[in-house]
Amino acid sequence: MHATIVLLPGDGIGPEIVAQGKRVLEVIAKRTGHSFEMPEHAIGGNAIDSCGDPLPEETLNACRKSNAVLLGAVGGPKWDDPTAKTRPEAGLLRIRKELGLFANLRPTKTWDELLDASPLKREIVAGTDILFVRELTGGIYFGESGRRPHPSGEEAWNVMIYSTGEIERVVRVAADAARKRRGKLTMVDKANVLEASRLWRQVAERVVRTEYPDLQYNVVLVDSMAMHLISKPREFDVVVTENLFGDILTDEASMLPGSLGLLPSASIGASGPGLFEPIHGSAPDIAGKNIANPLATILAAAMMLRYSMSMNAEADAIEEAVSRVLKAGHRTKDIAGTGTSISTTEMGDFVVGML
Ligand code: NAD
Repeated sequence: MHATIVLLPGDGIGPEIVAQGKRVLEVIAKRTGHSFEMPEHAIGGNAIDSCGDPLPEETLNACRKSNAVLLGAVGGPKWDDPTAKTRPEAGLLRIRKELGLFANLRPTKTWDELLDASPLKREIVAGTDILFVRELTGGIYFGESGRRPHPSGEEAWNVMIYSTGEIERVVRVAADAARKRRGKLTMVDKANVLEASRLWRQVAERVVRTEYPDLQYNVVLVDSMAMHLISKPREFDVVVTENLFGDILTDEASMLPGSLGLLPSASIGASGPGLFEPIHGSAPDIAGKNIANPLATILAAAMMLRYSMSMNAEADAIEEAVSRVLKAGHRTKDIAGTGTSISTTEMGDFVVGML
């Protein structure tokens, strides 16, 4: 297969970690006979510096024409001025919107070799392997909002709004993923209080019962889910939820494995390229030092092969290589504890060597 993968290194550690993701993809191409064209484009702070726009038209056009996009991270103190005309994060929000990426997939898996890094007890967290599917383009973040005068000062509101179609399409993404995993799907809502959640419950139930009767399906209230995640995380396989709940629950869950540097994420739409990235930010405190952990980006590249190109064997090979590198005891500084650590490029060398 020939594929165009747009690389958006971004700011801070972005260029260092995307470089390692690129090396891994080059090895996959070489070993399997695929051909990957990987042009680099600007996004975020560096794009503001070079052309005043965090998502230049040229970058957006290249992404639109590609098979998939691999992003590092954007942002940093240099662009933090609250009075600035635009910010790096605006580029990220816009690219998601322009590419119609309505589902955010975040796998949260613990690694046996790193269990001591988790803030939870080993016996609770070991074996956790959850895929969160968060609705990304609807709900309270995009509903009507406003302020008006009030006798006490002001009052403000945000509307949580969802349509049947928005719920159906993200539930299908989650249900398809559950079929490829352990066959369990959990839908998280707040149907005891919110009308929008009651629609979610009704629509999700219909989609699953009629189109995915083979799945084991249950619903959990979001407040209970917040507790279950830290008391029995192993019980969940695929979890689907709306935008705001997903934002909060995925950040809670990201603490389970104990290292941000190991968690990838994917944003996908109905068709067209998906966007694949580590969940962490641009880590300006360690940028340019060649000590960042590139594994989340390498695992994001694996997700890209799996979800955008149906290259499951190639994705498995990358995940297996990462697992073996960790089993062999190789650690970047963020996961080394008091042990010795290796650099970003050395970690890339080990994964490439393992492949
Ligand atoms: P961060 O994720 O960049 O860093 C938090 C901590 O984790 C830091 O100590 C950092 O050194 C460490 N860390 C993060 N990734 C690491 C890696 N791969 N290897 C080793 N250590 C790692 O979060 P922050 O400090 O809150 O944000 C920094 C900048 O990133 C801000 O400008 C923020 O807006 C931006 N940000 C961007 C994204 C994105 O591009 N998707 C996401 C979150 C934050």
